[in-house]
Amino acid sequence: MTTPPHRPGDPHPNFIAGEWLAGDEVSRNLNPSDTRDLIGAYARANRAQVETAIAAAAAAQPRWAATGLQQRADALERIGQEIAARQAELADLLAREEGKTLAEAAGEVLRAAHIFRFFAGEVLRPGGELLPSTRTGMAVEISREPVGVVSIIAPWNFPIAIPAWKIAPALAWGNAVVFKPADLVPGSAWALAEIISRAGLPPGTFNLVMARGRDIGDLLLTDPRVAAVSFTGSEATGRKVAQACVERPGPMAKFQLEMGGKNPLVVLDDAELDLAVDCALNGAFHATGQRCTASSRLIVTEGIHDRFVEALVQRLRTLTVGDARKPTTRMGPVVDASQRDQDLAYIAIAQREGAQRAFGGEAMDEVDGQPGHYLQPTLFIETSNAMRINREEVFGPVACVIRVRDAEEALATANDTPFGLSAGIVTTSLRQAHHFKRQAQAGMVMVNAPTAGVDPHVPFGGRKASSFGPREQGRHAAEFYTTVKTSYVQP
Ligand code: NAD
Repeated sequence: MTTPPHRPGDPHPNFIAGEWLAGDEVSRNLNPSDTRDLIGAYARANRAQVETAIAAAAAAQPRWAATGLQQRADALERIGQEIAARQAELADLLAREEGKTLAEAAGEVLRAAHIFRFFAGEVLRPGGELLPSTRTGMAVEISREPVGVVSIIAPWNFPIAIPAWKIAPALAWGNAVVFKPADLVPGSAWALAEIISRAGLPPGTFNLVMARGRDIGDLLLTDPRVAAVSFTGSEATGRKVAQACVERPGPMAKFQLEMGGKNPLVVLDDAELDLAVDCALNGAFHATGQRCTASSRLIVTEGIHDRFVEALVQRLRTLTVGDARKPTTRMGPVVDASQRDQDLAYIAIAQREGAQRAFGGEAMDEVDGQPGHYLQPTLFIETSNAMRINREEVFGPVACVIRVRDAEEALATANDTPFGLSAGIVTTSLRQAHHFKRQAQAGMVMVNAPTAGVDPHVPFGGRKASSFGPREQGRHAAEFYTTVKTSYVQP
């Protein structure tokens, strides 16, 4: 642990214009595995402070863009190294705050470290092109420049990795950042911000503003000094973000939206049963199903359906639900009471629609004597793709089996959704796998692998209602965090 920038017992402050600032209001986060455990108090940034952060970012950005590239790369490398060195401590905080198991949280923290180190390397990679011109003697140079000030708005379900995959490329390519984490998970975001605050960036280059979206969101979207907005969250909020970026006075803001999913996992008759069950378990219930890439629709062909359901239910019986930080736990709690209420409301809707409950469905108000937001992993069978439970994102540990005749119906069902984030198939047929890979209407396709679990250096994103704008992660992130300049040069 490093020395905190505030007095013990005081709320954790915001980081604005290179200084740690207290706010007028305070939010407190509770451990969803044990609601008697208060994690900490966090100052909410007020509107004036958010405006100061944007002004500071606008003033600092040209200086940061002009900073020597090696210095920029070194700063990102230092951040990545410190995150990796503190993996266990940060994972413990993440698990305590958000409810991921310790193993899942440790994976997320390491991923954030890898992302910063990847983008430290990107700083020094060639980024332009030199083209011949149609005019004699003329050369055309294509270069990339930073976009300017970027507002980064993050969800609660990956409180370290998602901010990392937005902040690291933004900084790598010379932008300044105003980062607003989700209200539910200020602790993990604060720990990340504290590490970034010591990386040697010019004051104002990186700002942390902890606040409710509804209180300060408009400033992050409509201030004319904000050139771009990177948003991950629900579709409903994504639409508001898009509207504000387009309708604001003056130039529109560039925006990128990563939103929900209703991801299919297709299991064909020829699939290896154990692998299919592993993919379904991991895809649907890992991180308590609170993932945009969760495989919530299990589309299974007739010939393997009954064996698949029986084997999956067997495995669900041994999926230990409990305190996220206990080594025996395989699924942690739901993040908070209102998210669990939403999950339970969808469970009730599914039952009213005629879905059969094959496993789970019950909330547990305590496990091992600890009061928490626990919910059994829930599996519905005999569901149809037209049911609401199969069309709307639940964002919890609830999966539905849809029985289909054959591979053709499976593919049609997989694509019959407003969303298009990821899609998976389990099959031993190379022909079927290729066909699915080509025809799936999704940004990411998994063959014989869970729909979740993605590499940090390759493009991430979806289609249809799941995403809007350029991809995140890896070198493709340059599309969003830089702007192209075409120069015609006559020597
Ligand atoms: P949310 O939409 O409620 O909030 C996301 C962020 O937007 C939060 O920081 C919130 O404070 C902020 N916000 C809320 N109102 C705002 C406003 N008016 N203006 C500006 N900002 C505002 O989403 P959530 O509940 O935090 O996250 C869950 C959702 O995120 C799910 O739908 C999930 O699928 C999605 N998600 C998508 C991806 C992806 O990459 N596609 C990854 C993770 C989560």
